[in-house]
Amino acid sequence: MTDAQDSSEAKAPVPQSVVVIGASHAGVQLADRLRAEGYTGEITLISHECHLPYQRPPLSKAWLKGEASSESVLLRDPAYYADQKIELLTGTRVEQLERVRDGVQVRFARDGERRTRQFDRLVLATGARARRLTLPGADHPDVLVLRDIDHARSLAGRVQAGPIVVVGGGFVGLEVAATARTLGAAVTVIEAGERLLARAVGPDTASTLLAAHRGMGTEVLLGTAPAEILHDHGGLRAVRIAGGREIPAATVLVGIGAQARTELAEQLGLECDGGVVVDEACRTSDGWTLAIGDCTTHVSDAGNRYRLESVDNAMEQAHTAAAVLLGRAIPKRTAPWFWSDQGDQKLQITGLIGGHTSMLVRVDPERPRRRVALYFSGGALVAAECLNSPADFVVLRAALARDHRPGPEALSDTGVPLKKLLGPSRG
Ligand code: FAD
Repeated sequence: MTDAQDSSEAKAPVPQSVVVIGASHAGVQLADRLRAEGYTGEITLISHECHLPYQRPPLSKAWLKGEASSESVLLRDPAYYADQKIELLTGTRVEQLERVRDGVQVRFARDGERRTRQFDRLVLATGARARRLTLPGADHPDVLVLRDIDHARSLAGRVQAGPIVVVGGGFVGLEVAATARTLGAAVTVIEAGERLLARAVGPDTASTLLAAHRGMGTEVLLGTAPAEILHDHGGLRAVRIAGGREIPAATVLVGIGAQARTELAEQLGLECDGGVVVDEACRTSDGWTLAIGDCTTHVSDAGNRYRLESVDNAMEQAHTAAAVLLGRAIPKRTAPWFWSDQGDQKLQITGLIGGHTSMLVRVDPERPRRRVALYFSGGALVAAECLNSPADFVVLRAALARDHRPGPEALSDTGVPLKKLLGPSRG
């Protein structure tokens, strides 16, 4: 692949107005990129949330720990939007979209009023919502999810209230578990699968993290599903698991994944499959509407469909969408990456695992906390998980970005640092 791919929209007229629904990592980055690329037309960002756009990753980490303020997690300074002539409509829910000959009509509700406005181009950046439990008792107010800052406020108010049961051993659940332990809460994680993070990381990384969480004092129950949430006199009391054991709980945090918000795309008749289906240019099935970030479903070159829920994906797709709107070449997509901080465990992932044919784990014998799991397909490096090894992560990410993909035999000698084996001169 060359550094840039041609956009098939290269000759489409540059729109005079763009509306972006959703003002979070993807939407704000798109607006920013359009201005940085010299776009002078109207940009309107619509957000259902009443807050200025903020970062979500700290909500389960520094923010919950009290080490970040609501101001420090803002994606941009409050003055940024006016300075950049970006119209930001917060507290505004888009209810209906209609394609018209010259663009799109957007019907939204704000301050109890309904209005309709027309724009030349539409970008969906509607993200995802946290999945909820549907068990008996799961509608209790102390059964919480964590997706937005209001959820985080509710959770922060409950950390000292008594034992916490986290349902789901995914990233959000494990980050909250680690943070809550740091703050002194008694924490139990119950995970239905036979290992943690089953969809996201390989078995070596999963078992290392399992040991780390148990080492922090968290009880982790694998292969365990909640059956009922019990309360007495209004207060939450326990989670009953299959088999009958009752785990004391003052608060339940449900971390069982997120569901793409596809309602508006469905209204427009766009193809959805767990998310809004997009091509490599972020075009949806009508070839005109663009969609970016957590609300999307990608289609790989081999035709496989997958979703990415990460800040990196939101940023990359925002850059792609900006190029498409401006009729410019689409930037080359680098290997996706992700991070997760769980207590003192720092996990960084680059590339996509799954579909690999072999793997190799490198452990620094002098610093065993540093582990790198490497994944290969057809003898070529495709992905890596780095635990507590940020320097290795930088080297691996750079190698994948420039398509330097050696096989396992070239990377197996743990006596030689990855920097030496993969440094630019080896590419
Ligand atoms: P979202 O952030 O979901 O934003 C979509 C916005 O659209 C929302 O504000 C929503 O209200 C709005 N919206 C939807 N429908 C409408 C409508 N009809 N009208 C108006 N507005 C609407 N990623 C990492 O890479 N690393 C991490 O460590 C990490 N930690 C995380 C921790 C937590 C607690 C959470 C919740 C997420 C974390 N993520 C992390 C994931 C990351 O935050 C998401 O990938 C990212 O927020 C996706 O951005 P987005 O703009 O696509 O969607």
